[in-house]
Amino acid sequence: MSLADCTANLRAPIATRVADKPTVRVHSVEWRKVQNGDPVEINPSVGHGYRVMTVDEWSARWKKNEAWPECLQCGSKNTKEHHFTQTWCRGKKKWESECLCLDCHSFSFRSYCDPDFKTPEEYEKERWQEMVKAEAPKAVAAN
Ligand SMILES: [Zn+2]
Repeated sequence: MSLADCTANLRAPIATRVADKPTVRVHSVEWRKVQNGDPVEINPSVGHGYRVMTVDEWSARWKKNEAWPECLQCGSKNTKEHHFTQTWCRGKKKWESECLCLDCHSFSFRSYCDPDFKTPEEYEKERWQEMVKAEAPKAVAAN
């Protein structure tokens, strides 16, 4: 899915919140280390081991989210996205995104879900419940 798909035909408001640490747990742990000046694990694609990193170094590999670059805290567009997930099911979408602001070091979290979005598991559960419902009267009659 492209970013355009993400931003097109939104049928519900985008939920937002600002935090002083990342929502994603693994990033939250690293963020605390960066803040404390503790060594952080080097990304396996560029090296190995641990190193003390500045916020800029830690976030160097992240890209800006071109659709929502604004920091929800200070309005700066000097942000980088470190978390993005999306789920599509039967043409319905759901996504979440979180960006770090390099100016105020706030984390801007945005999430969106189509009003009638259901996961494949939910569809499957409903199908079973329908089947059980359809079978129930017959079972009673047989007794
Ligand atoms: Zn900011």
